[in-house]
Amino acid sequence: MKRREFIGWAALGSSILGQLSWSKIAQAADAKKLTEKDIFKEGMTSTIANYCENPEKQPNKACPKWPESKGHCETCNFYNKDKSETDYKGKKYARCLLLGDPSKPQFVGQKAWCGSYIKQA
Ligand code: SF4
Repeated sequence: MKRREFIGWAALGSSILGQLSWSKIAQAADAKKLTEKDIFKEGMTSTIANYCENPEKQPNKACPKWPESKGHCETCNFYNKDKSETDYKGKKYARCLLLGDPSKPQFVGQKAWCGSYIKQA
């Protein structure tokens, strides 16, 4: 085998191995199983304020200002930016970009809301 052929085959092999590795990493990320400790709950302290799991249930001390926007996480600019939306116990959850600390709960409910809500453009 000539040197040029060897380099070509080596480059092709390296490329295929690289794609397989990224594919496995992506599958691992998609396969994340949520647990209770991944889910942000009403009353937890964090960078977001007035998080409410069921904002329609008013009056609600957690999110008394919800009627002003009528939005939900699913239409918020910070919801599911990493395509992490996952089913858990019959509801959908995804990461909120404003909950950036991976050692704390980062998943919020599709139908939840908080005071940092900004409607998607
Ligand atoms: S409304 Fe937006 S900022 Fe607030 S918790 Fe939901 S996704 Fe995050």
